[in-house]
Amino acid sequence: MAKDYDVLIVGGGPGGYVAAIRSAQYGLKVGVIEKAPKPGGTCLHVGCIPTKALLHFAEVYEDVLRADDFGISAGPVRVDMAKMRDKKQQIVDRHAAGIESLFKKHDIALIPGRGRLTGDGAVEVSAGGGAKKLTAGAVILATGSEARTIPGLEIDPRRILTNVEILDQTEIPASLAIIGAGAVGVEFASIYRSFGAEVTLLEMLPRLVPVEDEEVSAELARAFRKRGIKVLTGAKVERIEPSPDGVSLAYANADGEQGALTAEKLLVAVGRKPNTENIGLEDAGIPTERGFIAVDAFMETACKGVFAVGDIVAGSPQLAHTASAEGLVAAARIAGKQVEPLDYNRNPSCTYCEPQIASVGLTEARAREAGHELKVSKFNFAGNGKASILGGRGGFVKVVADEKYGEILGVHIIGPQATESIHEAVVAMQAEGTVETMTTAVHAHPTLAEAVQEAFNGIYGLTING
Ligand code: NAD
Repeated sequence: MAKDYDVLIVGGGPGGYVAAIRSAQYGLKVGVIEKAPKPGGTCLHVGCIPTKALLHFAEVYEDVLRADDFGISAGPVRVDMAKMRDKKQQIVDRHAAGIESLFKKHDIALIPGRGRLTGDGAVEVSAGGGAKKLTAGAVILATGSEARTIPGLEIDPRRILTNVEILDQTEIPASLAIIGAGAVGVEFASIYRSFGAEVTLLEMLPRLVPVEDEEVSAELARAFRKRGIKVLTGAKVERIEPSPDGVSLAYANADGEQGALTAEKLLVAVGRKPNTENIGLEDAGIPTERGFIAVDAFMETACKGVFAVGDIVAGSPQLAHTASAEGLVAAARIAGKQVEPLDYNRNPSCTYCEPQIASVGLTEARAREAGHELKVSKFNFAGNGKASILGGRGGFVKVVADEKYGEILGVHIIGPQATESIHEAVVAMQAEGTVETMTTAVHAHPTLAEAVQEAFNGIYGLTING
């Protein structure tokens, strides 16, 4: 019997919607099941896009405050959080409408409701009290993740917040405590500090952004302290109590000593859990590992014809662009196209706090653990003309290379526009370029990219400006 669709995708975030468009481009009949009112997922509605909008507004505000330094005097500067929230929402809405129109353009059916595997190869869609069964040649699960909280802690949109509630605040609190110094924690620390809140960041591990290179963590801690952010590392939050004027926290530091603090608001940024409950995994015979789904190199699960991409995948970083890249692999595989598995070592990671952080490949410590003979070089933005023009607030580019053939193992940037500059290294690694490729490619002057090149020059002790 003919199936309703060639591909049914559960979830319309950056994993699902990108897989849908690519599948349609390959000539497949595609349906996307989405339970939210609009497609776009966490990334578009309560993640990357709104957060980066606020980060940009914060940067504009700081630029205006510092404009005097460039010889420009501005009148009294005022922040209107409600207006900012509306502006951010306009950007989000415009892009959600953009995805809908792309679906129309590619003849992709947007099916409202919750999708669930039924075990007989079909997907049940339930919406508004009713349910229907749809059949498909292949299914891609792209259901994403949601914020973890601390056991026993109730989220309260007025003072105990996750990445969702914090986006819709209309006032700047006098003080904000943040639990967790991963990407969410450091990005909101950055935004709220820019707007004048007293920010305290509590991280139970010994350093900020613990997955990044150690020198990057140290530079971020230095820059944050300089900005007046209180950084408490090795601090495990053990008790949280709402109080009449905010929240009280008790934490233990690395030596077991107890500390306490109060803040007007609290952001809980302790990671995300995969949305893998109630999507029929047991019925389809798909096992989970701590809630995550194991897949093969082409994103196929233990159940033939059922694929998984994005934040629900075991061992994959929970990043929007990774979800999209995985969606492309799944779509190509389903369409029978030639496709290479994703190389996660060439998957960049970008954190949009001030200063920005971006990296690709191995940290110095990981490269040593992997047994490489290393050459490591670091170039400070202090020696880069463009960075000085932009206001010169420190940071560096660090390159980790294999000594023998100059293989690029990892690149780590903290400083201005790091999240753009990293792509030079990503493309070089993807093209299997070496340190020499980077040192011989002519870089325009004055650019931040010259700092990247200078860090590569340093691998051979040939840095010009440092
Ligand atoms: P995360 O897992 O990156 O960081 C959470 C941090 O909280 C960890 O460092 C952990 O040690 C700490 N922590 C946990 N419990 C604690 C406690 N009781 N006391 C003190 N510290 C505690 O999680 P996140 O920052 O919430 O981000 C979630 C996911 O979303 C991550 O995978 C992240 O990479 C992704 N994300 C990415 C971006 C980006 O790419 N710019 C932005 C936001 C989120």
